[in-house]
Amino acid sequence: MRQNIVAGNWKMNKTLQEGVELASELKSILASKTPNCKVIVGVPATHITEVVKTVDADKVAVAAQNCADKESGAYTGEISASMVKSTGAEYIILGHSERREYYGETNEILKEKTDLTLANGLTPIFCIGEVLEEREANKQNEVVKTQIEEALFHLSAEEFGKIVIAYEPVWAIGTGKVATPEQAQEIHAYIRSVIADKYGAEVADNCSILYGGSCKPGNAKELFANPDVDGGLIGGASLNAEDFVGIIDAF
Ligand code: PEP
Repeated sequence: MRQNIVAGNWKMNKTLQEGVELASELKSILASKTPNCKVIVGVPATHITEVVKTVDADKVAVAAQNCADKESGAYTGEISASMVKSTGAEYIILGHSERREYYGETNEILKEKTDLTLANGLTPIFCIGEVLEEREANKQNEVVKTQIEEALFHLSAEEFGKIVIAYEPVWAIGTGKVATPEQAQEIHAYIRSVIADKYGAEVADNCSILYGGSCKPGNAKELFANPDVDGGLIGGASLNAEDFVGIIDAF
């Protein structure tokens, strides 16, 4: 059965000290709780080792927000999937719309990153989603299908079984404009059908598909109540421990 997941994406926020403080707050709030979902925090690469040490590993796993599309070598400034693995992180967020838009990440590049993430025993949280003009032209299904096909459909069924999908309509990220529960359910069900057509019903049923885009404690419950919404990828609200736990508590 698929897992419900709430994953934070801190993006390029917090100094190391502030990040450790946030991780400790999260640890103390969660100490008295048993979350009904897997909890992950996606932190800057510079913070991973310390955040891994700070959180209670039984309750919170750590993700990187990116990795290189090369294994190792003369790629100044890049961080490889094996380096991420060596920090104790278990997940890598891949293909976030900010990486696609500002750093030119194509489905072809993301295919390489996905392979390296899996080869290093890490779980990709693979982001897909349409921009506003595509939604207005009713092209969202086409867009997400192409993103999945081009970056992920070379994987075997066993490999695809390790992927977490995060559907994030770009028009909802950081804008306060959240998708309606109906819009989320409709496209999540479509994404699952695309996976089922390629890999069969079992792989599709076992795939966690998260919603991302202005998810907050006040709207998480109605989003997560949908049968094909298996949790959230949370940006802004993951920068505050109480808000983030408010979303975790929606399960
Ligand atoms: C994100 O960046 O993944 C995200 C969903 O951001 P926000 O929650 O701030 O919209």
